[in-house]
Amino acid sequence: MAARILDGNKIRDDILAELAGQVRELKSAGVTPGLVAVLVGANPASQIYVRNKVKADLPAETTTDQLLALVEKLNRRDDVDGILVQLPLPPGVDSKRILMAVDPAKDVDGFHPLNVGQLVSGRPRVVPCTPAGIIEILLRNQIPLQGARAVVIGRSDIVGKPVALLLLHHHATVTICHSKTRDLASVAREADILVAAIGKPAFVTGDFIKPGATVIDVGTNRLTTEDEVRWVFRDAAKPLENLVAKGQVLVGDVHPEDVKEKAGAYTPVPGGVGPLTIAMLMSNTVQGARARRGVGVPAGRQ
Ligand code: NAP
Repeated sequence: MAARILDGNKIRDDILAELAGQVRELKSAGVTPGLVAVLVGANPASQIYVRNKVKADLPAETTTDQLLALVEKLNRRDDVDGILVQLPLPPGVDSKRILMAVDPAKDVDGFHPLNVGQLVSGRPRVVPCTPAGIIEILLRNQIPLQGARAVVIGRSDIVGKPVALLLLHHHATVTICHSKTRDLASVAREADILVAAIGKPAFVTGDFIKPGATVIDVGTNRLTTEDEVRWVFRDAAKPLENLVAKGQVLVGDVHPEDVKEKAGAYTPVPGGVGPLTIAMLMSNTVQGARARRGVGVPAGRQ
């Protein structure tokens, strides 16, 4: 049977439609949720990600102190409900200090240590966007989590660790793998749910995938040479045409052909996890606005 495609664009649209009602409620209370993205230096990927949001663009030479001053100003502005500091920051900037400076109530990325602690203790206030989106994909597609064997490849603070915690909180049995894991393919093959957050194009090949498993591909890698595209897409014509037209082809961490043959369900790249990240950013901003301004929040949660 052909593997089921877990359509991230559809779920993003559903979530945004659900949020529209909450935004109307906020607006009727005189509140327009405000999100500011802080971008330092020219990073094309970040530029695409934050398109259509309010941006504070700063030159690459910006210092830690200048950035701290901006964050403090945004913390004080009542019309700002969410502050997103786009990572990575330039090497000269102390990223940890900047993330610590963001008001936890406006931390739409969930990277402040206070919010990380809330997540670890199983009482999350704000959940990092990509991991939250992955859980939405699984739940809204009725993928059983309780008792499932889940394997997460990648242990970053922004994807691997938080998604592993969320799966654990949904009662999956979770294994976290990384670059030092021995016999990675055989560990991955135990997974009913396999999450790949590695940053290596088509790294997860068919021998990593238990037949029928659900595979979530977080990777967003760009192939720029004909050899790479031929290898990954097995000489298919369309990706080669895309390479010529755009100079690059997007591919996840999972082999896009192997996954169709082995998995029961999978997220495509593009159109899988990526759209959810943006939807959850919007959701975190709206929830933040509701909590901070006391609109539509049950008593005791403010
Ligand atoms: P990261 O911080 O670079 O972490 C990568 C993880 O993969 C590390 O834990 C690393 O292990 C592990 N790893 C690297 N090589 C490995 C190998 N050969 N075998 C096993 N594990 C290996 O990356 P990230 O920020 O988590 O992002 C991962 C990918 O997701 C990237 O492609 C990124 O662009 C993408 N991403 C997409 C979205 C979206 O919205 N779609 C959002 C965020 C990230 P060690 O810890 O041992 O080094």
